[in-house]
Amino acid sequence: MTLQLQSAVSLKPFNTFGVDVQAQLFAEAHNDDDVRAALAYCAANTLPLMVIGGGSNLLLTGDVKALVLRMASRGIRIVREDCLEAIVEAEAGEPWHPFVQSCLELGLCGLENLSLIPGTVGAAPMQNIGAYGVEIKDVFHSLTALDRQTGELREFSLEECAFGYRDSLFKHETGRWLILRVRFVLSRVARLHLDYGPVRQRLDALGIAHPTPRDVSQAICAIRSEKLPDPAELGNAGSFFKNPLISAELAARIKVSYPGLVGYPQPDGQVKLAAGWLIEQAGWKGYREGDAGVHRLQSLVLVNYGRATGTQLLALARRIQADIVERFDVALEMEPNLY
Ligand code: FAD
Ligand code: NAP
Repeated sequence: MTLQLQSAVSLKPFNTFGVDVQAQLFAEAHNDDDVRAALAYCAANTLPLMVIGGGSNLLLTGDVKALVLRMASRGIRIVREDCLEAIVEAEAGEPWHPFVQSCLELGLCGLENLSLIPGTVGAAPMQNIGAYGVEIKDVFHSLTALDRQTGELREFSLEECAFGYRDSLFKHETGRWLILRVRFVLSRVARLHLDYGPVRQRLDALGIAHPTPRDVSQAICAIRSEKLPDPAELGNAGSFFKNPLISAELAARIKVSYPGLVGYPQPDGQVKLAAGWLIEQAGWKGYREGDAGVHRLQSLVLVNYGRATGTQLLALARRIQADIVERFDVALEMEPNLY
């Protein structure tokens, strides 16, 4: 058995909020055998198993009485290709952004809008990560997961993952599926998505009239670096709330009092609101309570100025949720996974 178990490990370096809690046991899985060894250990010792990747979508509210298994498996390979596209497989522990860059270096496009998202390949399907008009479902091929209940391997097709807006089957069947590797179908011919937010503007400003996928990746990295706090400098988990989907009727009602309301009509008739805009209108931007706060430039991002606990961050999030319900009659759903 190669699995190295450590006891009483601080999880501070393993969650981007930088919350300092302890794991009862901690180990890294470098391959499928390590994952199976961890599951066997937990079964034999009646201990829960908690799987993490980069810890960039977690809010830890206390010590974790479990074996925390950090996915550290590596490997990127082309499993099938022709002159138009390739299916690329990556192990769960591959860091996401370097994986995107590797695909671009191979001349494969489709992931460029998802540049600079923290975390791992294995966690990406959990919430169908998305940014700048692209979600992984748009280029997803299939994945291999281990059923923690039976120990069996299962292949999931695109349809079986039930991807939705920051959502998937895996988010609903919490703790059942351990994602081992993911496959994407990427194109050798550039089909760029430039019409979302400031992407095209940035390329225009750089004088790039005919961008390559790499140009798009670089533009998005630049925009993100300017707008988002770097977790290495200021603890955060990215957007803390999902953008709410509300009825067109409620959107119209809010617009009466707030003519500047930012809303995006959806194909099903609902309207997606920018949660950050609601929070900003309610006056929370830059708010600080001890070491827990709302980022001064990005109201959707809760930050840890140093020693905030997960409970303090959660309390702040709940106050914001209550305020947004009271002001706008809109319920904000938290995006990070709560433990
Ligand atoms: P973790 O936080 O470690 O885990 C998240 C959840 O997945 C947990 O429930 C964990 O148990 C589970 N999990 C992890 N690995 C596995 C596995 N192999 N099998 C089964 N379950 C697993 N998200 C976006 O969608 N779009 C963005 O643009 C974006 N930008 C961000 C920017 C910043 C600055 C930050 C801090 C976060 C951002 N996020 C964004 C959120 C986050 O980066 C993503 O959700 C990312 O996919 C989480 O990956 P992770 O490896 O860090 O997962
Ligand atoms: P932004 O460009 O300031 O836009 C604010 C919000 O409006 C975004 O959340 C986005 O929704 C929505 N939006 C903007 N243009 C849209 C369009 N053309 N059609 C539909 N919806 C539109 O957003 P931002 O905060 O700087 O983030 C940029 C992108 O990165 C967004 O896609 C965002 O989701 C993603 N991001 C995600 C996280 C995370 O942790 N989940 C963190 C940082 C950035 P969507 O969020 O639905 O795209």
